[in-house]
Amino acid sequence: MKLMTKSKFDTLKIHAGYDPKDHHFASSVPVYQTAAFGLENTATADKIVTGKLAGRYDYSRDGNPTVRVFEERIAALDGGVDAVAVGSGMAAISYTILNVAENGGRIIAPRNIYGSSLDEFRTFFPKFGINFDFVDDINDFKTVKHLIGEDTKAIYVESVANPSTEIADLEKLAEIAHAACIPLIVDNTFPTPYLLRPFEHGADIIVYSSTKGINGHGNVISGLIVDHGTFNWDNPKFPQFSELEFTLGDEDLHKQESFVSKFGQQAFIKRIRMKYLRLLGAVLEPVDAYLILLGLETISERLDREVASATKIAEFLSTNEHVKKVFYSGIEKDNLLVKKYFPKGVGGILSFELAGNIKNVATLIDNVHVFSYLPNIGDSRSLIVNPTRTTHREVPKKVRESQGLNDQVLRLSIGLENVDDLIEDLDQAIEKAFE
Ligand SMILES: *Cc1c(COP(=O)(O)O)cnc(C)c1O
Repeated sequence: MKLMTKSKFDTLKIHAGYDPKDHHFASSVPVYQTAAFGLENTATADKIVTGKLAGRYDYSRDGNPTVRVFEERIAALDGGVDAVAVGSGMAAISYTILNVAENGGRIIAPRNIYGSSLDEFRTFFPKFGINFDFVDDINDFKTVKHLIGEDTKAIYVESVANPSTEIADLEKLAEIAHAACIPLIVDNTFPTPYLLRPFEHGADIIVYSSTKGINGHGNVISGLIVDHGTFNWDNPKFPQFSELEFTLGDEDLHKQESFVSKFGQQAFIKRIRMKYLRLLGAVLEPVDAYLILLGLETISERLDREVASATKIAEFLSTNEHVKKVFYSGIEKDNLLVKKYFPKGVGGILSFELAGNIKNVATLIDNVHVFSYLPNIGDSRSLIVNPTRTTHREVPKKVRESQGLNDQVLRLSIGLENVDDLIEDLDQAIEKAFE
């Protein structure tokens, strides 16, 4: 289907990246469950493997038509030039960090990020010469500016932090990053492109765990990298983009190329695909891309409902005598960042601090019936978890507690059940916890 140039989000989420006439007029995107694709004849093979024949594939580690629809659909929803899908959110984050800083350097990031991201940044990437300058508050612009040095390669943030739901002021951070000729990388997993489109606020690269709200059904692990296509990678700070690459040139014509000379504004995503996806190999399976495409069709309807229910639940918890604190920026009436960035709501995830001690927390968790106790978010089922014992175990206690994340904090991811049933479930479990 040829999309009208100004198609809106809800049209793109159903149609972008897919033309039925190229696929036997199948209305649902077919699953190309194949490792390889025929090269037809030697002349055609030459064109396919050198990327000169658009729409043809050779091997599913380099690209697959089902996965490609998913990539193009997300690029359209986010307003990016291109996207690449990978096997998990962590693969998306790892490949992105390596692609900007593979020859070493420093990256600025807040401490209150996803547990595995923090663990990777703190303890693993330094072994590869990539070091992180962590800040307690990413909206402390003076400190962020002060940390930028010769060797700084990027600013990395989560648009909405996990689990505190604090909001990063993307426009200010983009301004600071661009003044230093470095990109702003945004993990936009919590809001998804439905609630926030970071490119409209200056972000250069977006990463996602599409395991979460993009798919919304808790049945696939997957990730995405999306490129705005506006950052200039032709910069001595990032020599990997302008060095000549054997695989990009043409040996017969004695022609040499770099990612910048060959792909221009698509250099970043092409390099992820050709270096990291092709060589490190965390590909997304076609059948998994198909499942996510199904989930994506209802993203707006799901998130509207989840935001409405999360708001009611946050209000219920704020009035409960056994709840000390609710973490949900969505109900903070005078939060200017909510007004500026999240007119449709900040999402379906919230946390709260229970009074009492860890025994009360355990009794509460052991007595919920509708909520599922498991480490995930953005599912159609409502979920509950105790982060310090599960998702944020990798975060040192001192760091956790400086952010108000103690053993009494419970994180909720609100699904699509009836909200009164969810409130009743929490109410009776809290009551049992304090019997
Ligand atoms: C879950 C999550 C990740 C990691 O994604 P996986 O798909 O589990 O690898 C990264 N960032 C955030 C914010 C997440 O919630």
